[in-house]
Amino acid sequence: MSIDKETLRENINLELQKVRKDITDLEELTKPISPENSIGRISRMDAINNKSVNEASLHQARDKYNKLEEALSRMDEAGFGLYVRCGEPIPEGRIMLMPHSRKCVRCA
Ligand SMILES: [Zn+2]
Repeated sequence: MSIDKETLRENINLELQKVRKDITDLEELTKPISPENSIGRISRMDAINNKSVNEASLHQARDKYNKLEEALSRMDEAGFGLYVRCGEPIPEGRIMLMPHSRKCVRCA
């Protein structure tokens, strides 16, 4: 059984759009916090905490974006969608979730 590359390509592109939007939102949220104390000290500390959470999310989102793009660019290579070690087909769900994954759970 082989994977439906056209569907997969569409799904990856949709996912890329979503992640791109997340990145835009997170970039907005991780802008430098104004040093003015108008929002109060506690709120400011909250803002700083949220900012580091958002920075971590932004980092992950960018990482995912790169991996999805890499998966797209590898799609036409022979062996795409097969695990490198054992040659088993990779379930589409796993490609979407972990586009960088090239070994199956058993071989990883
Ligand atoms: Zn395997």
